[in-house]
Amino acid sequence: MRIPFVAGNWKMNTTVSEAEKIVIEMLEKLDRIEEVEKVLCPPFVSLVSIHMMLHDSSVKLGAQNMYFETKGAYTGEISPLMLRELCEFVILGHSERRWYFGETDEIVNKKIKAALSNNLKPILCVGERLEENEAGKTEEVINRQVTEALNGIEPVSNLVIAYEPVWAIGTGKAASGEQAVATIRFIRAVVAKIWDESIALDVRILYGGSVTSTNIAEFISYPEIDGALVGGASLKADEFVSIVEQTAKIKKRIK
Ligand code: PEP
Repeated sequence: MRIPFVAGNWKMNTTVSEAEKIVIEMLEKLDRIEEVEKVLCPPFVSLVSIHMMLHDSSVKLGAQNMYFETKGAYTGEISPLMLRELCEFVILGHSERRWYFGETDEIVNKKIKAALSNNLKPILCVGERLEENEAGKTEEVINRQVTEALNGIEPVSNLVIAYEPVWAIGTGKAASGEQAVATIRFIRAVVAKIWDESIALDVRILYGGSVTSTNIAEFISYPEIDGALVGGASLKADEFVSIVEQTAKIKKRIK
């Protein structure tokens, strides 16, 4: 039984005080929604303070990135050892990391290994660019990203995968539910091929890309889509709470 999952990726938005304000606005309502695993991923500088605010609540904390070494002369980097005192989850391989900061599949693989060996649960992001989509290469790209990310990793069910077509991120142009579910079924088949069918059935796979309170139902009405990774809409307390509430309600109905 896969527990529905909704994470908010705040990206490079919010100062510490702004982040705290958003948490104050949403925490009580989010905390009451029991059927969904809820994760907030604020910027690094807010992790300590939000870790304390979430203490005693059912809302969990995630980081947006990390380096794959645990410590050393890597100026400006944040390690899994530092994160694991604060976070349960870490987003890895987000397309903004891949395309703006040159993260390769090999780097993503090293990061996944480092996260798992330090008891952090990775939220692995995969997704094709517009030109790849238009050239009919979606499955080829996804197969490569998932296979290389999981290379040499023992089967684990505490991995979350987010299918985030790059053309849908921050554009207001979400994929259709039909497009998303087709690729998510494909991702599960790739995981089954790399590991095995039963582990693949335990791994949660989310959709991400311009998710809002208006379109969330279209995605999570499919039993194969376990939730969402939400960017822009997760910065608005009412929007994010509504996305989580709808996820809880719909998943309960279709169980
Ligand atoms: C994201 O950052 O992972 C994302 C999906 O962003 P948005 O919801 O803003 O498209």
